[in-house]
Amino acid sequence: MTTHIAAFGLCRSYRKGKIEVPVLRGVDFEVGHGEMVAVIGASGSGKSTLLHILGLLDAPDAGGVVLDGKRIDACPERERDALRNRTFGFIFQFYHLLPELTALENVMAPHFISHGLFAYWKHRKQIRRDATELLERVGLGHRLTHYPSELSGGEMQRAAIARALVGRPSVLLADEPTGNLDSTTGHGVLELLRDLNRERGLTMMLVTHDQQIANQADRVVRLAEGRIEEWVPALV
Ligand code: ADP
Ligand code: MG
Repeated sequence: MTTHIAAFGLCRSYRKGKIEVPVLRGVDFEVGHGEMVAVIGASGSGKSTLLHILGLLDAPDAGGVVLDGKRIDACPERERDALRNRTFGFIFQFYHLLPELTALENVMAPHFISHGLFAYWKHRKQIRRDATELLERVGLGHRLTHYPSELSGGEMQRAAIARALVGRPSVLLADEPTGNLDSTTGHGVLELLRDLNRERGLTMMLVTHDQQIANQADRVVRLAEGRIEEWVPALV
């Protein structure tokens, strides 16, 4: 089962003192089942804001988010938590790994955060097996007991990708996942995301300001002036 996600009429402003700064001014947007879409746009154009609203990390002032035909932005907190834990996977520019945990522990961590220590303890063998498998899948089978400070940027992002897959998400939201990596490493990470998109039917939205990275997606759109301004065909 693949997932379809859409947004309609999204508006979001931030208040700066007495001034209201509009960031999103009516964003209509959709990502098809198993599609990988890249969003490009200048720094400050609202890409992260849009991604956070789609993933229920932030709420719009107006408009809505629709997942497989069902409005999700206004659903109760409990359902939103479940969606954040099980439907969405998040990847960020700066990895957000916990420095005091090993790669393996970082990938296991979402379990005890979402299910509690008791459930974690009860299922710890299975959880460890799953986490090991995910780290092997992203090419880090030889780095299980390394701490983030002992990993390269590309390795940290791979560990973060493994962690994002723990809840078996159907939608992956990636905010500048290659923004902190050199070009070769960045393309390697993108290739991994591309492979995961194909092999797991993951619906994927990728924010980047790198046109070359964006061109690896099925489709590229540009965010400007608070709207999805144009549909840019990927250059082959
Ligand atoms: P992008 O990811 O495209 O660089 P963002 O979505 O992070 O853009 O931010 C869009 C605009 O909103 C920027 O001008 C930024 O300064 C502003 N902004 C983002 N978050 C906040 C916040 N929490 N409070 C005030 N302004 C914010
Ligand atoms: Mg951003």
